[in-house]
Amino acid sequence: MSSVSASSLARSLLRREILDLNAYHVPDSSGCVKLDAMENPYSVPPALRGEVADAVAAAAINRYPDPNPVALKELIRNVTRLPQGMNVLLGNGSDELIQLLALAVNKPGAVLLSVEPSFVMYKMIATFVGMRYVGVPLDKNFSLDLPAILAAIEREQPALIFLAYPNNPTGNLFPADAVMRIIDASPGLVVLDEAYYAFASDSFIPHLARYPNLLVMRTFSKLGMAGLRLGFLAGSVVWLEQLEKLRLPYNVGTLPQLVASKLLEHHDVLLRQAEQIKLDRAWLYRQLGKITGVRVYPSEANFLLFRVADATRVFEGLKQRGVLIKNLNGGHPMLRDCLRVTVGTPEENAKFIAALQESIL
Ligand code: PMP
Repeated sequence: MSSVSASSLARSLLRREILDLNAYHVPDSSGCVKLDAMENPYSVPPALRGEVADAVAAAAINRYPDPNPVALKELIRNVTRLPQGMNVLLGNGSDELIQLLALAVNKPGAVLLSVEPSFVMYKMIATFVGMRYVGVPLDKNFSLDLPAILAAIEREQPALIFLAYPNNPTGNLFPADAVMRIIDASPGLVVLDEAYYAFASDSFIPHLARYPNLLVMRTFSKLGMAGLRLGFLAGSVVWLEQLEKLRLPYNVGTLPQLVASKLLEHHDVLLRQAEQIKLDRAWLYRQLGKITGVRVYPSEANFLLFRVADATRVFEGLKQRGVLIKNLNGGHPMLRDCLRVTVGTPEENAKFIAALQESIL
């Protein structure tokens, strides 16, 4: 064995689709105003820090985490206002839940369908688990092309559909009636990914009981807890009982459980932060709209998508000025010359606008 190099061994052992995959790239952000990853710019509210610190200090981290944190789940059910008969399954971030769902339905030939451009992990995870992926293009306004999606559902009979509501990276909320048509027409599961629910005007949580094939996925990452890694899937206990079998026993650690519980007891404080972010999003939208050469798209999330003449040059100009956003140029063809900026604090937003004005010249 010692005569074989690790790289030739890896090439022969690994699946072709894994070798061909590009890893999810997270750029170095040290020293930058960080507006690239849809994080909440506000950390633990100062008034809650003592309470969180005490809970962490008393944590039994020598023990495995609670495999079924009933009180935390109850708290999530309450703040989410889940309808009767519905429950939640917790994930190590919602990324983990996308993977769990794909693993659960991946019979030979099964299809995972989503729209494009959308959250890149749907396609990546389909690839990890060896599921066939079908991406249906959005229309030119980044809204749903309903006839194309209904035709794809008819043709492909997808076992699993993901729709980000609002969508990432475009920021828009698809029309609810079109989403309902998709759920009605789908022979498989439809998962509405409400990662940005705190900044949006609508949700499918109240509709859960109406559709036997609907699940809603959420994350607390955008509500100030990205570092905790906590997401959940909400839906009928019939689905959740089966999906629980795939959840690794201790997927949510003790510290995330404790800290999230403390913060969710003060959900109103977190929602006030989200309200502030929505106001700042409106400010940022207006400022972007005033800059010649920028086309900004409406958003119901905590970020804005905008288009410029030469996105890569503008992105680099911003970086040189210490502002990191996301360059979407070179990804999906519909995102040519597009950039995405996360809404930060008012000071960060002002720095970004000033740096953009200089970079775009
Ligand atoms: N869904 C969407 C639409 C997202 O944009 C993101 C984060 N970028 C996620 C899911 C994953 O969130 P997390 O794993 O942090 O819960």
